[in-house]
Amino acid sequence: MTPEFTPLYCANHPKVESGLRCKNCGKPICAKCAVLTPTGYSCKECLRSLTKRFETAQWYDYILGPATAFLLSSLTSLLITLISTFSFLIIWIVIVALSSSIAAGTAEILRFITRKRRSKRLFTITIIFFILGALLVLAFNLLNWTALAFQAIYLLVGTPIVYYRLSGIHMSK
Ligand SMILES: [Zn+2]
Ligand SMILES: [Zn+2]
Repeated sequence: MTPEFTPLYCANHPKVESGLRCKNCGKPICAKCAVLTPTGYSCKECLRSLTKRFETAQWYDYILGPATAFLLSSLTSLLITLISTFSFLIIWIVIVALSSSIAAGTAEILRFITRKRRSKRLFTITIIFFILGALLVLAFNLLNWTALAFQAIYLLVGTPIVYYRLSGIHMSK
C-alpha cells in the first residue's frame, strides 16, 4: 500500500505546486509564501496574527524596562571601571568571560521585571537605555584607556546578548 500522492497547490498562488504546509493553519504554501520560524514554516497571515498576540507590553513596561536596563548597565560599567584598575591580562579574560554572563543576567532581570511581556518597541527602547547607561559611565572614563577598552568589550558582547534574550531568540551555541 503506497499512500496516494495528491499534489498540493499554494493557497495564494493556485498554479504553484508546493510541498509545504503552514504549521499553524495547515494550508499549503509555496516557498515564496512560507516564512521559516524556529518551529517550522508558517504562512504570512498566521505569522502576523501571532506577532500581534505576542505584543503584550503595558505602558509601564516602557518605563520599568528602560530604567532597569539603564541602572543595571551603568552599575556593571562602574564595576568594570573599578576592576580595570587592576590591569592584568587575566582580568581581560575574566571580563570577556563575565560580560556574557552579566549581560545574560541583566536580560533575565529585565524579563522578570516586565513579567515576560513583550513588544519589539519595548526591546529596542530597553536596549538603547542599556547602551546609554554604559555610555554615561564611559563618559567619566575618557582618560582611562583600560576602563574604556573593558567597557567597549562589555557593550560589544553584552548588547546582542541582552537583545536576543529579551526578544526570545536564543542564539544557538
Ligand atoms: Zn497559516
Ligand atoms: Zn504562494
